[in-house]
Amino acid sequence: MAYAHHWINGEPVELPVGKAVCVGRNYAEHAKELGNAIPEAPLLFIKPATALRALANNIVLPENLGEVHHEIEITVLIGSPLKNATEEQAKAAIHGYGVGLDLTLRDVQNELKAKGYPWERAKAFDGSGMLSQWVEARGISTRQHIAIGLEVNGELRQEGHSGQMLFSIAALLAEISQCFTLEPGDLVFTGTPSGVAALHRGDELALRLGNFFIATTQVL
Ligand code: ZN
Repeated sequence: MAYAHHWINGEPVELPVGKAVCVGRNYAEHAKELGNAIPEAPLLFIKPATALRALANNIVLPENLGEVHHEIEITVLIGSPLKNATEEQAKAAIHGYGVGLDLTLRDVQNELKAKGYPWERAKAFDGSGMLSQWVEARGISTRQHIAIGLEVNGELRQEGHSGQMLFSIAALLAEISQCFTLEPGDLVFTGTPSGVAALHRGDELALRLGNFFIATTQVL
């Protein structure tokens, strides 16, 4: 089923579905667990709209491509265009907050990294960008820390909050807008805290976004 943005009350968000810009290594503990250096500038990559899927539609693992890792991330929905934006302009363009999974073919990614190749085969496949519904950004202060947590089969695997990010959400959006124009309906995956691990058929996942909601999904 084609992905479309929805608010948490089920109403459609009146925005098209664009690209997802993703941030790598934005939490120090996660950079460390994969043996990566802490970046001096945000590490960016893109998932096309065809990679996006609602968590409610469940996770389909690609076959015969090795381990698929979960990376829970705070997601940000863009409501107005951003190009060469300041952090203040970036904050004003945030339309909604959500939670998502940046699904990663870790074995494929490790091979690509070793060769110095781009990561798209590991990161941008169909269904690699799993998204919750959105909560309205209006009324959520950008100074407030937003927490996330992922349970798999009832066991806490990942947790963190925006205060632990190496680059804040506003700083990320401003930086991204220097490289890629962000358009209404685009979204940003803001990086994952530590605890990434492989998913398996039948896993039941619960993704928490602060006190706003818990989204559930399963691996088919
Ligand atoms: Zn990620």
